[in-house]
Amino acid sequence: MGQAGAVTCRACGHEFQLSTGGGFKVQIVFCDDCGRGEAVAHDQRILGDGDPSAVVGLCGRCGGSLRLGASPRCPRCRSLELEPGGADLLWD
Ligand SMILES: [Zn+2]
Ligand SMILES: [Zn+2]
Repeated sequence: MGQAGAVTCRACGHEFQLSTGGGFKVQIVFCDDCGRGEAVAHDQRILGDGDPSAVVGLCGRCGGSLRLGASPRCPRCRSLELEPGGADLLWD
């Protein structure tokens, strides 16, 4: 089960939807370069033993590395300072 909720960037004020966590089949992993979240299938199983620096895929937007330990970023300014807001939706 994962969560999706509205977050606001503290740096530029951009508001966007952020998905975190994972479901039965996928886990959300973030791009180390632009912060885009991508759902990576568990059966892709390169999930590098939980190593946070392990690259588990390539970003569909910038071609950067999706890393287990990467944090979500603002898609506009790439800031890591994100403020949760609004109601969280549960998804699976
Ligand atoms: Zn921003
Ligand atoms: Zn990227």
